[in-house]
Amino acid sequence: MQQLVKLTGIARLAAEGALLTEKRRVEYRTLPTRRWLNRCHSNRVPFHWSINPYRGCEFGCKYCYARYTHEFMERREAEAFETEIYAKDWDPAAFAAELEAVKPGHIIGIGTATDPYQPMERTFRRTRAVLEAMLPLRGAAIFITTKSNLPPRDIDLLQQLSEHNEVGVTLSVTTMKRELARLTEPYAPRPDLRMQAVAKLASAGIQVGVIANPVLPLLTDSEENLESVARAAKVAGAHQFGAAVLFLQPCAQRVFFPFLAERFPQYLRRYEASFASGAYLKGKYPERIRKIVKQVRERIGIPARGLDLPMPAAPEEAQMVLF
Ligand code: SF4
Repeated sequence: MQQLVKLTGIARLAAEGALLTEKRRVEYRTLPTRRWLNRCHSNRVPFHWSINPYRGCEFGCKYCYARYTHEFMERREAEAFETEIYAKDWDPAAFAAELEAVKPGHIIGIGTATDPYQPMERTFRRTRAVLEAMLPLRGAAIFITTKSNLPPRDIDLLQQLSEHNEVGVTLSVTTMKRELARLTEPYAPRPDLRMQAVAKLASAGIQVGVIANPVLPLLTDSEENLESVARAAKVAGAHQFGAAVLFLQPCAQRVFFPFLAERFPQYLRRYEASFASGAYLKGKYPERIRKIVKQVRERIGIPARGLDLPMPAAPEEAQMVLF
């Protein structure tokens, strides 16, 4: 861990966290937490509140947008986000007090900045504790996003929450091709295991959707790839399907570009050129992907997610897209 000198705020708290457990590649530490419920003020996010029981994510997706959250803790090495995971200290009384601010009609997103079903969630059960503590809520909307196949463990709580609130679980599956997923999302459960989780949730009456996010230009953006994910989702009983194009902030570029250089060098130059002046693609390419996704949905008969994250407006000086 880094030296304690000069660290303040969350960086200091992270540095002081106690070791929870150490796996071969990953170390989990505690993280003292002032607030579990974070108010979302951005109109780019369709939630009133977000909850992230962990910081960092063991799944290590090469394109992960959430790597910036480790930079707040002065953990800037590319690997730190996926090898130093922080489990927030759980305080049921404090959480219950925070929940009083949640009103009927409010939307809560769980897993907006990291996956709430980290592999060690099996042991730490932070996300399960959050769901359990939310049982008194009435009239809220609770949406979980994950790449894990662990959510069926919590079917009992999701069913209870659904009695008085709107509840939805969204599984992210970018491709059904195992080998490609293993390269781009090296430590996430296999796509077929995620689809099995979709089937279990759907058969338990839980609202479940699948998103093929992010759509990776030249890697997962073919109609054939998107349709295979949508078909698998439909067969599994998913209620919605959606897909949005990759955005690559600098912290994600620092991991994704070397990955491309190693595995898909033929695409590197086009990625670098397209993301040279910003994180978002605009113009014909995202429009084409939107059209493909719409056609796939119509062909398969699976509706859009009601909660699709609106893409932030690309700045005027956004790059020419080369895809
Ligand atoms: S599962 Fe989500 S949070 Fe985790 S590494 Fe992948 S994209 Fe990032």
